Amino acid sequence: MSQTTRFSLSQAETPTHWYNLNADFPEPLPPPLNPGTKQPIGPEALAAIFPEPLIKQEVTTERWVEIPEEVRDIYALWRPSPLMRATRLEKALQTPAHIYYKYEGGSPAGSHKVNTSVPQAYFNKISGTKRLATETGAGQWGSSLAMACKLFGLECNVYMVKVSYQHKPYRRMLMHTWGATVHASPSDQTEYGRKLLAQDPHNNGSLGIAISEAVEDTVTHPHTKYALGSVLNHVMLHQTVIGLEAMKQMEMAGEEPDAIFACVGGGSNFAGLTFPFIHQKITQNKKTRIVAVEPLSCPSLTKGELRYDFGDTAEMTPLLMMYTLGHNFMPPSIHAGGLRYHGMSPMVSHALKLGLIAAEAYPQTAIFQSAALFAQTEATIPAPESAHAIHAAIQEAIRAREAGQKKVILFNLSGHGLLDLSSYESAMSGKLQDV
Ligand SMILES: *Cc1c(COP(=O)(O)O)cnc(C)c1O
Repeated sequence: MSQTTRFSLSQAETPTHWYNLNADFPEPLPPPLNPGTKQPIGPEALAAIFPEPLIKQEVTTERWVEIPEEVRDIYALWRPSPLMRATRLEKALQTPAHIYYKYEGGSPAGSHKVNTSVPQAYFNKISGTKRLATETGAGQWGSSLAMACKLFGLECNVYMVKVSYQHKPYRRMLMHTWGATVHASPSDQTEYGRKLLAQDPHNNGSLGIAISEAVEDTVTHPHTKYALGSVLNHVMLHQTVIGLEAMKQMEMAGEEPDAIFACVGGGSNFAGLTFPFIHQKITQNKKTRIVAVEPLSCPSLTKGELRYDFGDTAEMTPLLMMYTLGHNFMPPSIHAGGLRYHGMSPMVSHALKLGLIAAEAYPQTAIFQSAALFAQTEATIPAPESAHAIHAAIQEAIRAREAGQKKVILFNLSGHGLLDLSSYESAMSGKLQDV
């Protein structure tokens, strides 16, 4: 019997507003602090690096924030994204569980990150910004911002972690194709980069270092602002289009998720899928199990400490209350480059502290086995980052089989892995190791 496995919304059913969990937290989010005075920073302190509309979104406790028409027009290039039921994976696992996934890999840059790069470029454009500076790890965020900047006529200057700049040439080429300037970080473009290169010309870079360089670039160039692809409240806000769509699509499927999984680097695709469901959990007292999945080698939520810490290595950012491994933590070079960040979104951290969500960590060899199983049953090649969510969802489906329970599982497939094939090659040839 053939079964509907794809749940598609019409353009008219796409969200007109983003959802803000800061309106509904049972306890307010601890504010960012000035590192010098240890006092809460006001919105004016952020004005050097962010445009006013994004600062407003960063601090607002308004529940619904309107998505501008210009942004919705561009979202329409790939949104609404499909919700799929993974019946072939269910069959391979011989599980009574129903497994659904929201697929964000169909965007032009291949991941969810364009859901925020587009509004960030838009709000900068209308605020008079001419140029954006940013950092990127494996290149997903840099390419997403490059695309959005080109569509709104902004210059884009990207600091790319050196080891990825050398080993991930395709996303660098994507950025070039979309007209961005890309520097291997640490670079000779900033004082901080030059200092690090003088100490060690072979410094491979890290996300924390690249953030420091992008922030320094911002404050030393006219008409330039900074853009961050994860962690901050306004980024979590923009990504909620994922969960708002998914909720309607689950209704179309006639089911409600018992357990929801998404991978976490800085927390944005997780927040995007789950925050609207957390809203339901808070307001309707639902028991949904909501799980953030991280790599065992960069375990900020499962092994980190909840405290104030810097977002970057050079200590240039405000202090954020978050689960952190310490801002000098150098994550080992694993294949899920997008999950190598020492900290975690303050909003996601707060949700964990309040018991609204849970966290799990897994080693990369197990992750790639699940990625391969998914590719061989559902056909789509997942990003190594997204494969963390797949792996945790599979564990849940196996538990459901063992318990003979019909569970409904939902996960976020945050991106495709077509530019990560060398990682698959390492995994297939047995070269992958747990670090
Ligand atoms: C960047 C990235 C992530 C990790 O970032 P979050 O902000 O935690 O979502 C996850 N999946 C993909 C495909 C990415 O590109």
